Amino acid sequence: MSCIFCRIVDGDLPSRTVHETDQTLAFLDANPLAPGHTLVVPKEHYETVGDLPPEAAGPVFETVSAVTPRIERAVDADATTVAVNNGTAAGQEVPHTHVHVVPRFDGDDVGPIHRLFSARPSLSDAELDEIAAEIRG
Ligand code: AMP
Ligand code: ZN
Repeated sequence: MSCIFCRIVDGDLPSRTVHETDQTLAFLDANPLAPGHTLVVPKEHYETVGDLPPEAAGPVFETVSAVTPRIERAVDADATTVAVNNGTAAGQEVPHTHVHVVPRFDGDDVGPIHRLFSARPSLSDAELDEIAAEIRG
């Protein structure tokens, strides 16, 4: 099995696990963006958020919610950025879906995730209506 997060779940690769449930694992990122940077993964292999069935999606966010305040306390963070690189075009490198919980500090000058997008599209009301209708299906 080549997926590194599956190997961590199976105990074949080491991790600094901080929380475990029947369906999820949370462990420190090996190359942290900030002290306490943690990844939350479903134990089953799903590549993207959209691949998660409801019975896996719920527990992943329950674990995110459980560990986030503990991470903040552990490193005395003022906040956290909770984010998913969902798909390769979004920068996902490990094809086993995972939620990043990255501690943030007053004055860390990283900014909101909005800063990822330097230019915003100009969309008319009609285009916005059409997109919303398309998503509703
Ligand atoms: P992403 O770009 O969203 O796929 O992020 C993958 C993350 O996994 C990166 O932040 C890596 O530092 C982290 N990572 C890769 N290998 C390991 C590992 N063996 N243990 C913990 N974190 C890892
Ligand atoms: Zn996997």
